Amino acid sequence: MNIGVLGAGQLGRMLALAGYPLGHGFVFLDPAPEALCGLGSHVVAPADDERALAELASQVDLVTYEFENVPVASARTLAARVPVYPSPAALEVSQDRFVEKTLFTRLGIPTAPFAAVDSRDALDRAVAGIGLPAVLKTRRLGYDGKGQVVLRARGEADDAWSALGGVPCIVEGFVPFARELSILAVRGRDAATTTYPLVENRHAGGILRRSLSPAPGVTSALAADAERFARALLEHLSYVGVLALELFEVDGRLLANEMAPRVHNSGHWTIEGAETSQFENHVRAITGAPLGSTAPIGCTAMLNLIGGWPEPSAVLAVPGAHLHLYGKAARPGRKVGHVTVRCDDPLALGARVEVLEKLIAARG
Ligand code: AMP
Repeated sequence: MNIGVLGAGQLGRMLALAGYPLGHGFVFLDPAPEALCGLGSHVVAPADDERALAELASQVDLVTYEFENVPVASARTLAARVPVYPSPAALEVSQDRFVEKTLFTRLGIPTAPFAAVDSRDALDRAVAGIGLPAVLKTRRLGYDGKGQVVLRARGEADDAWSALGGVPCIVEGFVPFARELSILAVRGRDAATTTYPLVENRHAGGILRRSLSPAPGVTSALAADAERFARALLEHLSYVGVLALELFEVDGRLLANEMAPRVHNSGHWTIEGAETSQFENHVRAITGAPLGSTAPIGCTAMLNLIGGWPEPSAVLAVPGAHLHLYGKAARPGRKVGHVTVRCDDPLALGARVEVLEKLIAARG
């Protein structure tokens, strides 16, 4: 099949790398020629360009996304011509933090307390209800820690409100989490559903730095909760494809932070660390193929390369290490690649991670 992908970054590239062996072709739509991922063919245009959408639809059998800030109207325009997976409705939910958290609550998925804030006065009322510390986040277009401010005292509200530009926001209670976790789940066109093991994620500066899979020390009750939450979302949204759900672990329970209606950075470990990668399973799901096993192969760590990368041969000299460079120019704060390292023994994995983290920290 020919698969259209909205967005042409590294996620699109890894989707194509997984889809080619299955006999599929890829056409990407992205406005930035420099974003092009070096695979497949491209329509260089913004995602709201009607002619470009028509051109894309004429070249493909179905469409998917590699980033969630695609205009919903564009997804709907495409869906009138070709199947679009996940559905525009799932995309719409994930684009608005208030709508998303309201859905979580409706489905019995616990979250931090939250309230919509549409004015400076509403911010004071929300903070009075939720308490401090709290986090003010834009409802839309936040990513990698952008579009959010932590509020520790009442006096910070003016600055926080203007820092985010007075746009519609939500306020959430600040979660003193023990750690961040995520679960990836996938649902096929035939409604078959499966999940990957919970992953432990470490962020710095709002950007994911390291994922460990399976997350160490997860009780079976915690794993069952995460799986139940992810499945509830898949079923409710009649979802097709991979969905990621980001979670906080606090006092031995899980609170949902946000979902991503796409393959996810915290699932990159699956390329070498699972029987079937998230990318292959997404392609399988959207093309109506049977899903592959999500069983992990030993223990895996994924380290993001941000702003640059170490000498490739030094990385590849570490036993069990695999290097993924995305073909992007190095720029501060930009994700330019990742390293995966796999090992059957968690202790030996820890030693390899240490070596790799030193190499990454030392890159000139
Ligand atoms: P987000 O854009 O919602 O994924 O947030 C980015 C990061 O900010 C998360 O991965 C957390 O590390 C942190 N964060 C977000 N929301 C909260 C919260 N309510 N309490 C504490 N930390 C948060």
